[in-house]
Amino acid sequence: MWIIYGTKTSNKVHGRITSEPCSECNNNIFSLDTIHKYFHIYGIPFFPTGKSTSLVCNNCNKVYENNALSENRKIDIKNSRHKSTVPFYHFTGLVLLTLLITLISWSIYQDKLKEQAILRTPAVGDYYVVNFKNLFFMNNPDDKPKDELTDTIVEQKPYDFGVVKLVEIKNEKLILLVGNYTYKYPTDAKKSITDGIILMQKDYFTDYIYELPQNKVFDYYDKGDIQSVYRMSKFQELLYKAKQENQ
Ligand SMILES: [Zn+2]
Repeated sequence: MWIIYGTKTSNKVHGRITSEPCSECNNNIFSLDTIHKYFHIYGIPFFPTGKSTSLVCNNCNKVYENNALSENRKIDIKNSRHKSTVPFYHFTGLVLLTLLITLISWSIYQDKLKEQAILRTPAVGDYYVVNFKNLFFMNNPDDKPKDELTDTIVEQKPYDFGVVKLVEIKNEKLILLVGNYTYKYPTDAKKSITDGIILMQKDYFTDYIYELPQNKVFDYYDKGDIQSVYRMSKFQELLYKAKQENQ
């Protein structure tokens, strides 16, 4: 994608001022022009980049540019009642960007609050996006997910992230059913929850059980070994189950 950006100017005529006589025609009334420059992206002004002031003789139209103004003329401009303030719209882009960042931060913060509330009061049926590698193989090498029936332990999968489902809370431990699939990115793992794949795909979960002490939950969450938690609404559950039956 390419971006159009650069600087633009807005011309603002401020009106008349009296200054030392024009070198051409001796007239001493001028119009004061101030040009404000601003940086723009796609034509949206982001921030001012400077201004230049010039005087135009009211009689012969001779232009006295910013850099060629005499000290006296500069003082006359400064003392005139015409103040050239930067137009507020030159900050439009910055204001919009600030609003956008604030909005995004706020919604991330709200999501985090919601997640923390779920983590504090876990319920059967919650889904966690976890880092399989850290949780099962790095942190607790002696405590891997087990399948009681076949008396086997889970094997390392190609990618780090996956989904576990809370099936029981027992002796202050979360009993978690381990997902069959791993993902390179936690966002893809989360998508399998939000898209209902975990419900619609029959073999999504294995028979491997991982027991997570409840008092460790926030440690793992802070470390990122628990990436996120999701509680599906009854409506969503019904919807996905109906979809599954139609397949
Ligand atoms: Zn003149």
